[in-house]
Amino acid sequence: MTDHLIDPALLEIMQCPSCTGTLVERPDPPALVCSECGLQYPVRDGIPVMLIDEATPSDQ
Ligand SMILES: [Zn+2]
Repeated sequence: MTDHLIDPALLEIMQCPSCTGTLVERPDPPALVCSECGLQYPVRDGIPVMLIDEATPSDQ
């Protein structure tokens, strides 16, 4: 069992497709958030949807 949405090793090599920034997990709703541009990529059934068209801007 793990409390990670994504395998940490996988998350480490993933980049934001918009700006190549670092991605951070967000548990609720499950998403990966770019620490650079703030786009949120949804995680559906444990699979991150790394599409700019599917991303939503965060409030930050
Ligand atoms: Zn970004």
